Amino acid sequence: MNALNKKTIEDIDVKGKRVLARCDFNVPLKDGEITNDKRIVAALPTIKYLMKNGAKVILCSHLGRPKGEYKPEFSLAPVAKKLSEYLGTEVKLAEDAEVVGANAKAMAAELKDGEVMLLENVRYRAEETKNEANFSKELASLADVFVNDAFGTAHRAHCSTTGVAAYLPAVCGYLIQKEIEFMGGALANPKRPLVAILGGAKVSDKIGVISNLIDKCDTIIIGGGMAYTFMKYLGHSIGTSLLEADWIEKAGQMMKDAEAKGVKFLIPIDNKVGKEYDENTEAMIVNSDEIPDGWMGLDIGPASQKLFVDAIKGAGTVIWNGPMGVSEWKNFEGGTVAVANAVAESGAISIIGGGDSVAAVTKLGFADKMSHISTGGGASLEFLEGKELPGIAALQDK
Ligand code: AMP
Repeated sequence: MNALNKKTIEDIDVKGKRVLARCDFNVPLKDGEITNDKRIVAALPTIKYLMKNGAKVILCSHLGRPKGEYKPEFSLAPVAKKLSEYLGTEVKLAEDAEVVGANAKAMAAELKDGEVMLLENVRYRAEETKNEANFSKELASLADVFVNDAFGTAHRAHCSTTGVAAYLPAVCGYLIQKEIEFMGGALANPKRPLVAILGGAKVSDKIGVISNLIDKCDTIIIGGGMAYTFMKYLGHSIGTSLLEADWIEKAGQMMKDAEAKGVKFLIPIDNKVGKEYDENTEAMIVNSDEIPDGWMGLDIGPASQKLFVDAIKGAGTVIWNGPMGVSEWKNFEGGTVAVANAVAESGAISIIGGGDSVAAVTKLGFADKMSHISTGGGASLEFLEGKELPGIAALQDK
């Protein structure tokens, strides 16, 4: 997908227009309080731009999984409160169980230029996740323009991400623009060498990414639990390490494809293995062809760290998705720390895919050293797989 040619909020005139902006306000809540507001903070630049440029701003989002019915615990009320604090102006919530109800309609009609309101959780409506036209039309009826800035749900064809774009001029906000500039740029026209680092638990989750990246990368580095399926293909015994037996052949095919295409394909040459899947289990370092029965690989070993770090050093662009081991545990975070450090020091354009690698990079204190940290786990994986994301595809071309 050449997503770089999509129109953004800066390509249209928003003054005096009612703008429906789909954000990702799917924040974690505990006892009605937001425990992490980084998604709200990430949405502010687009909202502020719209306010400053005289739009009448109607925000919408999903929150959790109310499964198509009104449930007060999934209300966006805490988000309205937090947005009001950050924006320094009251953001009123249209408290309609049906989302586009009497309150939403009246409030949208009365909005003045630069004012902001918020609709209730779009997943109160069963039609939302089925992308049914009636709810898309209802959403569209409130506004003159649609802005999608929810990258985290851009891989879902829902009413508020995709359906509504059939009825309104549709452009992207700054968050989606940044995602597609970095990730799209890295795939379409990378500064070379392009190094992809893939880790995490499952080969099956990442095989689509590997097969897309094989045509684009100079080097592919595999770590984490998924590496053991590759080792199994090479005929090594892997003890009780993670294995996806159904994927051994496919993993081998990836290695053969890489070789045929002249792509360097690195898997761990040694491992930190543990007796049990436990943070404080007895551990030792063994080569990849010497994992004893009854032991499991929980991190890459020091020789692998060196191999991977050397490959990262000269990179022009790095795309990283998934930790090198069980990085939640101090005893098995070493490989992920070494890789994070190498990426930070490489001077390469560094793009961290969503999910656990973001958590690891943030926890380890490397977040501000990366060029781009994706805001969407599933969406960034699908983007890296080369799939067209419906929430982006639906937007107007430049
Ligand atoms: P993913 O969501 O696929 O990126 O996987 C992230 C998860 O993989 C984290 O929770 C890690 O603890 C886990 N993980 C990474 N390496 C291993 C390993 N060698 N054995 C078991 N789990 C692992």
